[in-house]
Amino acid sequence: MRRKMVAGNWKMHGSLAANEVLLGDLTAASARLTCDVVVCVPFPYLAQAQRRLAGSAIGLGAQDCSVHEQGAYTGEVSVAMLHEFSCGHVIVGHSERRAYHGETDSAVAAKAQRVLASGMTPIVCVGETLQQRERDETEAVVGMQLDAILHLLGDRMHDLILAYEPVWAIGTGRTASPQQAQDVHAFIRQRAQRHCQGAARTRILYGGSVKSANAVELFAQPDIDGGLIGGASLNAVEFLAIADAASAAT
Ligand code: PEP
Repeated sequence: MRRKMVAGNWKMHGSLAANEVLLGDLTAASARLTCDVVVCVPFPYLAQAQRRLAGSAIGLGAQDCSVHEQGAYTGEVSVAMLHEFSCGHVIVGHSERRAYHGETDSAVAAKAQRVLASGMTPIVCVGETLQQRERDETEAVVGMQLDAILHLLGDRMHDLILAYEPVWAIGTGRTASPQQAQDVHAFIRQRAQRHCQGAARTRILYGGSVKSANAVELFAQPDIDGGLIGGASLNAVEFLAIADAASAAT
């Protein structure tokens, strides 16, 4: 049985004042949630979020990490630093990192390995662009992204979380239909299970314009274990409604 999970990706949004309100609203409601809930905040807000989430059931996460352990890497943040702020999860390979920062499949896999080695859980993102979907390349692209992870961490698949995020659905308001998403999730699980039986226990989140209006149907799919939520995670009422949908499906 895989417990449902909802992870919020705040991206480059927030302010000290706005975060106080958002985190306050989330923690006030967290007792009713029976799924796992994590918020992945920008680096400068880790200390604030750590303080505001202490004692609540909501976990803290980061949106990226360095592939390096430590050293002369200006602007980078290491997994050890994230661990010091009680991060339990780290998103790696988000499509925005892949597209705007040139992150390769092997760099994403190396980051996931670092996160695991530090005792945290990577949320590894995969997904195709619109052009790739229209060319019928979804399985080839997602398969290649996944293979890099399987190559390095094939025996640890039950310890990480995957997120299928079709690039064409991120921040566009255009969601994959529950069936489209389920088809890719099932493909990912089968491919991962060929390397590691433990992949039956790997949680695969769906991300891409998830909102309260589509969450119930998405989370009802057999291989969709929750959501990675961007825009809607900045609104407490909406994010909590999505978490309620995940709780009900748990
Ligand atoms: C994301 O950034 O991971 C995401 C899924 O964004 P949105 O929910 O806004 O589409």
